[in-house]
Amino acid sequence: MDIQDRIENLRKLIDLNSYKYYVEDNPELEDWEYDKLFRELKELEQLHPEFISPESPTQRVGGISEKFNQVQHKIRLYSLDNSNDVEELRQWYSRVLKDVSFPVSSQLSLLDNNYNDVELAAELKIDGLAVSLTYKDGVFVQGLTRGDGVIGEDITNNLKTVKSIPLKLFEKVDVEVRGEIYMPISSFNKLNKIQAENGQKTFANPRNAAAGSIRQLDPSITSQRDLSIFVYAAIFDKKVNVKTHTDSLDKCRQLGFRVNNYKKCKNIQDAIEFCSQMAEYRKTLDYATDGVVIKVNSIAMQNELGFTARAPKWATAFKFPPEEVWSILLDVEFSVGRTGVITPVAVIKPVNLSGSVVSRASMYNFDEIQRLNISLNDEVLIKKAAEIIPKVVRSRKTDNSKPLKLPENCPCCNTPLIEIEGEVARYCPNKNGCKAQIKGRIEYFVSKAAMDIDGFGESIIEQLVERKLVYRASDIYKLKYEDFLSLDLIKDKSANNLLNAIENSKNVLFSKFINALGIRLVGKESSDILAQNYENIEKLKAAQYEELAEIMGIGEKMAKSIVEYFADSQNIAMIDEMIKLGVKITNKYNGIKDLRLRGQSFVITGTLESMSREVAQEKLKELGAKTPSSVSKNTTFVVVGANPGSKATKAQELGIKIINEKELVEIINGG
Ligand code: NAD
Repeated sequence: MDIQDRIENLRKLIDLNSYKYYVEDNPELEDWEYDKLFRELKELEQLHPEFISPESPTQRVGGISEKFNQVQHKIRLYSLDNSNDVEELRQWYSRVLKDVSFPVSSQLSLLDNNYNDVELAAELKIDGLAVSLTYKDGVFVQGLTRGDGVIGEDITNNLKTVKSIPLKLFEKVDVEVRGEIYMPISSFNKLNKIQAENGQKTFANPRNAAAGSIRQLDPSITSQRDLSIFVYAAIFDKKVNVKTHTDSLDKCRQLGFRVNNYKKCKNIQDAIEFCSQMAEYRKTLDYATDGVVIKVNSIAMQNELGFTARAPKWATAFKFPPEEVWSILLDVEFSVGRTGVITPVAVIKPVNLSGSVVSRASMYNFDEIQRLNISLNDEVLIKKAAEIIPKVVRSRKTDNSKPLKLPENCPCCNTPLIEIEGEVARYCPNKNGCKAQIKGRIEYFVSKAAMDIDGFGESIIEQLVERKLVYRASDIYKLKYEDFLSLDLIKDKSANNLLNAIENSKNVLFSKFINALGIRLVGKESSDILAQNYENIEKLKAAQYEELAEIMGIGEKMAKSIVEYFADSQNIAMIDEMIKLGVKITNKYNGIKDLRLRGQSFVITGTLESMSREVAQEKLKELGAKTPSSVSKNTTFVVVGANPGSKATKAQELGIKIINEKELVEIINGG
């Protein structure tokens, strides 16, 4: 293949994978594999500048989807050049020294043969999604993704749900800050566990989970995801005078932004030492980092150095090498979750990976096994990006490789497995006879976020189910002192403690009770939304699919699952039995205040006469309604005042009910 063809091929490959990564939040390549292709392309273009074209990915940044309103950035956002080789860092620094002009004083020291240095700022490179946040007079007005650097996606409403983004600053300034949205590793692991249990797509890493969560069309889904931000740059109005990058970070902190620690480095050697310290330190953090960003600290020098088509010349990123190791796949275990979903786990020859011995690695679901083309005795590449549970990312055949048979039947009860349309998992449908599912459901039922029955560990549940003392959750409330004494290792005191814990759990909040039922796809947050929308269990039992699907944060799939759950007479019998056995359910949302508009969403456009838009929004919120600023298919009413904006047209397009101010006032007053 000649060079031009290789360049074209690389461009196609990189473009395709950038699309999967930036637009679909669903990468197929590992980052280091993508980086390798990118570096090869860059090198070929440097050697053959005649082939450079403005269309090349080396000249561009990121990508944008059509899902959101597209807004032009006032000031462009760039990417960063990166390397994982310290020699390249030194070369970058030499270029900086060559290209900046030094103040006269330091030129004198140069003559003294005292080699001059340029002060650098080094910070962790957070592996998330870049956003820009605009504040006017200290109030958050707009939030955009980086997009392609020139145009970003308007995700203002989603960003408002991120609690560490201040809606109001401590000072009334105009400022645009840039930062990285990320999902803490612990929250990412929890989210993936829930997604896997519910047969939904799991995210490849915390970055993709964050990008997927912040780019949801429905802000109520974003609000359920645990996201945070670190701000790493700011463009202030002229009133704020900052001369260095680190001063600007300090100012951001003063204004109320979340800013990570940085280190001022007197030269590149200092920065390299910081990189090697961070390579270890990062493993202790609950957020994913993929390197260290090194920036020239003086803003005057930054201006002097400028940008390439894709990245600033005054900054570079040192990327941590991926932590991965090859091992042999000895076996694959298939475990059965409480919802019947089958999860494959790789059993590997124990290997040392980032300081710990790893003998099992995650494979998430059946699709993943097929995608990785895995056979038993294959060599498998195990990766732990320092932050994530080890996972199998690649396989290669050995002489001993032999086909891996995916189970057709449940490994616990032998029932033939089924697939559910639109989901990647396989399920065991024997929900009332499969012991693994029964145990899983009981474990979930007694957990903290559900009935919170203290002391009910795995081994107790195992014994209770094996001895047929507990078959479904309501059986727990029939257990007697003698039943506990009959279990291994349970004596008088612990039997009494367990009975007390059961008794205490009988007074339960409605939201926790709903969660305890373990309805497929319904987790803690959705249970809370259901409790806000339904007074009691009787009303929830009778809920219709259409009304459930309309509720913000519930949606069609969950609505279907809820209706199916309550259509099963065994589930109804279990709930009734629990109530008969003394379970008392209180709904904290009842009677506290008038929440008659809960579940409804009002978008106001144009000027109102009898009250300001903010007051109207406040009143609606007090009644339990949501008041997002943009129209979506989840909007209940669009209120049109004088001189309405494009929202009224959008409402018409989507067929959403439009009301005027008078009708709004009637709704608020209970008419
Ligand atoms: P990048 O992530 O390598 O670096 C630029 C970004 O770093 C900035 O936009 C900013 O968001 C972020 N950043 C984090 N902390 C920062 C800090 N303290 N200061 C300044 N910036 C900070 O660049 P990119 O253009 O977003 O993406 C390129 C990378 O994305 C590649 O290196 C690759 O690893 C990955 N990628 C992977 C695939 C794939 O298929 N796996 C596809 C496309 C891109």
